[in-house]
Amino acid sequence: MPTTITKSHISVAQNASGRHLNVPIYEISSQLDGPHVYIQSSIHGSEVQGNVVIYHLVRALKELTIHGKITLVPNCNPVGTNIKAGEYTLGRFDPVNGTNWNRGYYYDEESVIDFADTVTAQDSIEDIRRAFKAQTLSQIQQKQQQPWGLGLAQQLNLTLQSFACQADIVLDLHNGPVSSRHIYIPEYLAHQAAQFSMPHVILIPNHFAGALDEASFCPWWTLSEHLTTRFGRPYGFNIEAYTLEMGSQEIIDLLMRN
Ligand SMILES: [Zn+2]
Repeated sequence: MPTTITKSHISVAQNASGRHLNVPIYEISSQLDGPHVYIQSSIHGSEVQGNVVIYHLVRALKELTIHGKITLVPNCNPVGTNIKAGEYTLGRFDPVNGTNWNRGYYYDEESVIDFADTVTAQDSIEDIRRAFKAQTLSQIQQKQQQPWGLGLAQQLNLTLQSFACQADIVLDLHNGPVSSRHIYIPEYLAHQAAQFSMPHVILIPNHFAGALDEASFCPWWTLSEHLTTRFGRPYGFNIEAYTLEMGSQEIIDLLMRN
């Protein structure tokens, strides 16, 4: 079954002289069933290692048979990446208003509970998944169309989230300023920690603070808990989201390492 790769661009901002700042999107798929994986890198503009990870993934995946679909979004914050002070990249905050570039994603707990109340005991997991993904995308798009109150970070976050919210597995690739390698994992996925070969793990609760991983798993975690309470049986939706912190920022090395 042939693997197909398509590359497109979305414009996420303009610079001061009017040029569009584009983000590349790679879609890798075949006709074979499987999960949809979404991976983005460099939402904090100085955290460049994830771009190398995606470069290697594109090269490797086009030689493999893909089951499902993979969406790769490298260098997803060209605004943050291009703001320099001397040799330093001011990549973590929007310098206009100080907003963290990774705190503007969308989550509305009340609407999740409202949705949970519409589910019947006869609805299949797949039907619930499909309807809930459609509702989430619709809400993000409505939010994007609000003419007032959205800063650049939130606009960028919502644009990226409109892709990420359709996936089953979301990886947000980061680095720390000076950091060991570690990973943020929601508590309900603690058993997956060993999959990532990271020396340090931070388990996080069902609490939304604006980041992409939280925006990706909090809705499903909340939905699952409410349905389990209502119907007295477990509801698992197989949605996973992680933030990988791959070491210190502003260091890039194209050599593949074991
Ligand atoms: Zn970061």
